[in-house]
Amino acid sequence: MKRILVTGGAGFLGSHLCDKLLGEGHEVLCADNLFTGRRRNIHHLLDNKNFEFLRHDVTLPLYVEVDEIYNLACPASPVHYQFDPVQTTKTSVIGAINMLGLAKRLKVKILQASTSEVYGDPEIHPQPESYKGSVSVTGPRACYDEGKRCAETLFFDYHRQQKLNIKVIRIFNTYGPRMHPSDGRVVSNFIVQALKGEDITIFGDGKQTRSFGYVSDLIKGMHLMMNSPNEFIGPVNIGNPVEFTMLELAENVLELTGSKSKLKYLPLPQDDPMQRKPNIDLAREKLGWEPKVHLKEGLIETIHYFEQILSEGQY
Ligand code: NAD
Ligand code: UDP
Ligand code: UDP
Repeated sequence: MKRILVTGGAGFLGSHLCDKLLGEGHEVLCADNLFTGRRRNIHHLLDNKNFEFLRHDVTLPLYVEVDEIYNLACPASPVHYQFDPVQTTKTSVIGAINMLGLAKRLKVKILQASTSEVYGDPEIHPQPESYKGSVSVTGPRACYDEGKRCAETLFFDYHRQQKLNIKVIRIFNTYGPRMHPSDGRVVSNFIVQALKGEDITIFGDGKQTRSFGYVSDLIKGMHLMMNSPNEFIGPVNIGNPVEFTMLELAENVLELTGSKSKLKYLPLPQDDPMQRKPNIDLAREKLGWEPKVHLKEGLIETIHYFEQILSEGQY
């Protein structure tokens, strides 16, 4: 049994990771400043003697004793990470320095939740890990993209300079229960709009693509990466290579909810990537991982979750 630190553990992905680690019999220390995370996501864990919640901002140093670290703290939705862009960059960069400093002092393994956004608006399709990316340095998404890129740099430099045992995964769009209902990401927006009978907001012409991975597949991939041989440090793409346009996603949501919502076209946000799809050959080869959950299956679970949230009046 290990004592494992999960930063961002009260968020969408972090709370599922806490469930998984506790389920394996580990102790979990969840550190989160509750910026986008919610107590509701970890409410069911508060009575678990192996679970501890610590309200903490990773831009501040953290002195705890743990055996392993998953660094997930960072707002992930464009609406949230652009709300206070300076804090977003600080969270990624200073947060990474602090967690790497902690891992260095304790001589423990640390995994970074990086992102497909390091590829920016990609000219290569699908994106392999070797693609260096096309990121705007000065645009509104840069606080997130550049912050995450710098965090990866720090991980690799601590590895080279301090011999730290690191793991880096690049997560592609992931959805599922416990997404924040007003988080602004496309899957949660479309489902909440469909369930409330409001217009479905399509940004641009809706022909831009994303590849949506279900949360259970992502958590398996992240966990396999953490427990893979030390020589394999990544970065490795974790995502579902089946690609959809936003119009196709809207059709799926309308069909599965039986909603009569209409489509409403709004301007495409600046620097919004036109296409995104992971090449997952490396994850297949090194981790024996590939996603299993089809979009419709995952959407049904996610729709059930939002029905529940809306019926509780929690949004
Ligand atoms: P989320 O917003 O639900 O979770 C992020 C968590 O980090 C929240 O609980 C938030 O309160 C916490 N947090 C933010 N700033 C913090 C700070 N300064 N100190 C401590 N805690 C802080 O988002 P998520 O989808 O669960 O994303 C988790 C991680 O995965 C993020 O690092 C994100 O960049 C990465 N990621 C997610 C996706 C996706 O599609 N969900 C894709 C790529 C990468
Ligand atoms: N740090 C931390 N917890 C620890 C050890 C370090 O939060 O247990 C932070 C501390 O704020 C430090 C940062 O991690 O500034 C980087 O640590 P490192 O040892 O790499 O650098 P240094 O302390 O030499 O600046
Ligand atoms: N999008 C949309 N309607 C919305 C929210 C998002 O059409 O209500 C689009 C957005 O412009 C982008 C895609 O959906 O092209 C995915 O957006 P999201 O914010 O979920 O993730 P990211 O852009 O970070 O991949």
